[in-house]
Amino acid sequence: MSRVYNFAAGPAVLPLPVLQRAASELVEYGSSGMSVMEMSHRTPVYEEIIGRAEKTLREVMGIPDNYKVLFLQGGATLQFAGVPMNLLPEGGHADYAVTGQFAKKAFDEAKKYGEVKCIASSEDKKHTYIPKFGRGDITPGAAYVHVCFNNTMEGTCFDKIPDTGDVPLVADMSSCILSRPYDVSKFGLIYAGAQKNMGPSGLTVVIVRDDLIGKARKITPSVADYKTMADNESMLNTPPCYSIYIAGLVFEWLRDQIGGLAKMEAVNVAKANLLYDYLDSQTFYKAPAEKAFRSIMNVTYFTGDEELDKKFCKQAAAAGIENIKGHRAVGGMRASIYNAMPTEGVQYLVDFMKKFAGENK
Ligand SMILES: *Cc1c(COP(=O)(O)O)cnc(C)c1O
Repeated sequence: MSRVYNFAAGPAVLPLPVLQRAASELVEYGSSGMSVMEMSHRTPVYEEIIGRAEKTLREVMGIPDNYKVLFLQGGATLQFAGVPMNLLPEGGHADYAVTGQFAKKAFDEAKKYGEVKCIASSEDKKHTYIPKFGRGDITPGAAYVHVCFNNTMEGTCFDKIPDTGDVPLVADMSSCILSRPYDVSKFGLIYAGAQKNMGPSGLTVVIVRDDLIGKARKITPSVADYKTMADNESMLNTPPCYSIYIAGLVFEWLRDQIGGLAKMEAVNVAKANLLYDYLDSQTFYKAPAEKAFRSIMNVTYFTGDEELDKKFCKQAAAAGIENIKGHRAVGGMRASIYNAMPTEGVQYLVDFMKKFAGENK
């Protein structure tokens, strides 16, 4: 077996023990006589799998009882529409912070459903920081305030949970969920595509406070209506069975092998610091994200010379460092160092960066 260090932004690296356990259970799950992939979702054995996945996620994240956990499909991108369809009444309005390209996509999609306003933007500096905003900036009567908590392409992250008072805070946490503890009670709704930090693609997790459920517009597709999906325990139709199973194993790995999210955070901060400390100690590479808002999940940097960036990515791949190229809309390099990226992988990358800098000065 030969596994590379995979720095992809998503689908991304998964914990090796999870892959190994899944492999051992691939052909026959337990004594069911079949693979999880072949199972009807309306069987006690699958109901146990999805139920345990939810229970473990609740335990790991400390999700309060007055929140529903939904396992949906359509990616975070469907929630760009799902959020306004469910939370923005006809004739209502909502506020958005535009802190990166995904935040912008969410904002633009919401425009189809009503009046939305950008109350904070970092576009003036290519989204290299998180703009300040507070209760006073919120439009009176706003149905919610939407933020993209960790900006996957740009490598920035909110340094604290914004205070929106009584207005529900809705957060796209696709690339930072489970990276550290978050106080879920500070949010009205959290959504995240699984393929960054939870499991394979095909699964989207929505964590939503009870009082925000049941107000969807009439035209909302049933599979996108939080109430219908909550009432049917995410099984109105066939759920992404296998992705939920793998995500469940990842949640158990976090709890049983890592020891919870506080421990995970300590590992993640140490990993990110390996990269940032090196970046700060030299001048060959530039790290565009402002220090106060640096992401511990996605680390962006560039040399300032596009050809050299290309050469870096090519030589890195030859050395077993895969998918280090920055998002096509941003350029440069991006190291996505999600939970499953081992510390050795980050150290290996830093050593490679030093060598490359020495050879190309
Ligand atoms: C990856 C990503 C998305 C898009 O997710 P899909 O599951 O591909 O729709 C949206 N927001 C953020 C923050 C992301 O990292």
